Amino acid sequence: MIPCQKVSLPHFLFPETCNLFVLREDLHHIFVSGNKWRKLKYHIQHIQNEHFHTVVTFGGAFSNHLIATACAGAMYGFKTVGIIRGEPVENMVLFLCRQFGMTLHFVSRTAYKDKFLCFEQYTQQQTGYYFLPEGGADETGIQGCTEIWQEIPSYIDHVFCACGTGATLAGLLKGKPYTHTHTRIHGIPVLNAFESIQDIANQYSSEYHFHTTYTLGGYAKTNFDYLTSLTLFSQHTGILLDPVYTGKVWYAVQDLAKKQYFAPNSNILLIHTGGLTGIIGMWERYPQKNE
Ligand SMILES: *Cc1c(COP(=O)(O)O)cnc(C)c1O
Repeated sequence: MIPCQKVSLPHFLFPETCNLFVLREDLHHIFVSGNKWRKLKYHIQHIQNEHFHTVVTFGGAFSNHLIATACAGAMYGFKTVGIIRGEPVENMVLFLCRQFGMTLHFVSRTAYKDKFLCFEQYTQQQTGYYFLPEGGADETGIQGCTEIWQEIPSYIDHVFCACGTGATLAGLLKGKPYTHTHTRIHGIPVLNAFESIQDIANQYSSEYHFHTTYTLGGYAKTNFDYLTSLTLFSQHTGILLDPVYTGKVWYAVQDLAKKQYFAPNSNILLIHTGGLTGIIGMWERYPQKNE
């Protein structure tokens, strides 16, 4: 079990009429963290059972999924190849991927769009290579995410998760147990691809709330006030949020609570889907002054 941690925040950050909890999915493992761990679980079983020697996967230069896959490969004994979108670059995330033994292969943004072609060109039809979709976001990954419910106490009234591809939201919808029929599921898209997220989610259920006003304009977009509120959250809880995913969930939950969206005494759960590569990539944008 991982902690479902109650956080107490000062009233100017969060109204005292509701209770806020954080599900520490980020604590599964420092690098194979959060929903990336959930999404990899059944892929790893399959890779081991079928004796694939190398996993080929995909991501941007600040991808939580790449680090998770690289580290999992080192732990479970398979080689990893990361096909990276865009011009060759070097950063702390890619450094860590290499540190875990991943081979990095940069392709143009156009070439990146056809992942099966990238895979075929890289593997040259040799056997033993496993195609792992970007973010681990397929049926297998969604199945892993259904298990998040095992960590969610039945007193929780509202569950919030960040949506990139929507696979985690889909897993929550697919796995919702009868013990939690009253629990409402909320998805916070972190980019403006609302339709593709909802297409994945709606395959399982339409019983969720989708809040589209918290993207701040798009993927990895931020602003001064937003980053300040992430800093304040961390200073009062000891929990780091990243500006790309979990930060936007906090932004949404905080705004909804301030607008009295929740009934008094509601128990609200923010799923910490892990992954701190976003904060590694953006630390220079944060307000640095110490008042
Ligand atoms: C990848 C990622 C997400 C997005 O999850 P999806 O299943 O693609 O919607 C959310 N939070 C964090 C921290 C992530 O790394």
